[in-house]
Amino acid sequence: MQPDKADRSSLPPSSNELRVDTEALKDNWRMLDRMSGDAGAGAAVKADCYGLGVSICVPTLVEAGCRNFFVANWDEAEELSHYVAPEQIAVLQGPVTPQEADFAKASGILPVINSIHQAKLWTKAGGGTCHLMIDTGINRLGIAPSDISDPAIAALDIDVAMSHLASADEDGPMNARQLALYRECLGSVRHKRESLANSAGIALGMDYAFDLTRPGLALYGGIARPELEGRIKQVAYIKACVLQTRSLKAGDAVGYNGEFVASEPMRVGTISIGYADGFLRARGPGEAFMFEGKRLPLLGKVSMDMVVVDLAHAPEVKEGDWLDVPFDLLNAARQSSVSQYELLTVLGRRLRHWS
Ligand SMILES: *Cc1c(COP(=O)(O)O)cnc(C)c1O
Repeated sequence: MQPDKADRSSLPPSSNELRVDTEALKDNWRMLDRMSGDAGAGAAVKADCYGLGVSICVPTLVEAGCRNFFVANWDEAEELSHYVAPEQIAVLQGPVTPQEADFAKASGILPVINSIHQAKLWTKAGGGTCHLMIDTGINRLGIAPSDISDPAIAALDIDVAMSHLASADEDGPMNARQLALYRECLGSVRHKRESLANSAGIALGMDYAFDLTRPGLALYGGIARPELEGRIKQVAYIKACVLQTRSLKAGDAVGYNGEFVASEPMRVGTISIGYADGFLRARGPGEAFMFEGKRLPLLGKVSMDMVVVDLAHAPEVKEGDWLDVPFDLLNAARQSSVSQYELLTVLGRRLRHWS
């Protein structure tokens, strides 16, 4: 049997925690909205707001002024519809099956049409306002420029005609190429609004902003391009509890496969966070947790539920104390070679304690 809410409220506080700084999230949205100039910023809230939780992030974004929300699929759209009006939700995958087209029509949630097949499904389901994705070079989702004059597309009632940048985080020729092709395509299809830029695209400047921008990563504290450094604030903060402290002798080995071996006597702490919480094994090497500003290096492999740290710089640490888990996304991505997107979206449900 599932314990009900009343039972859960009698549980002791948990031993690790993700805190979402809602003021920083609001500030990031406002900053990206400002950087979008005359265009308004929307928000990509797919993957449960990149791992930080729809129930806390979406009401916060609404409070900041956000009115356009992008999710990947219909499950996510349904969850989002508890927080915002259906016409504010765009489903990036679009209707792949007749059932999805019928669901969109019945719910009022707007599909992004990605192909002639999807356009026909939508029209058959009754049609009405939708969005259109034009593939200008990412070769993933979206209608090919050569198909844009197809009668099935011409029959659509399109609000936002959008495209998606493949390499906006880089300075290659690709961005300008996609921008030019996007502009060309816009002339061939009836639509109300235009949208091209993700987080990194916003940093490319006003040419890329059009009517509506679609930041995701930067809302949640990711630094998609150097221009965003100093403007975007950290949103996710993680803490974990010291479960046990112990003394090692020279020659004692720590964790699975004994990867760290003490060369002299030392005091260590076992901390309640592991890769099942999204603190990946790749985060181990060279990383350190913090206690009141003191660095506590990780020792050995990250386990599923625990890591071990060196307490040399904080001998006062005792069982039940809390340590800060470093989660500055730019630094964490550099340290681990895992992308900022992945570091966020793998954060475990075990870290969330507000719902
Ligand atoms: C995920 C996504 C975004 C947001 O991208 P970020 O790089 O996270 O800002 C915008 N548009 C589309 C189509 C997406 O799939």
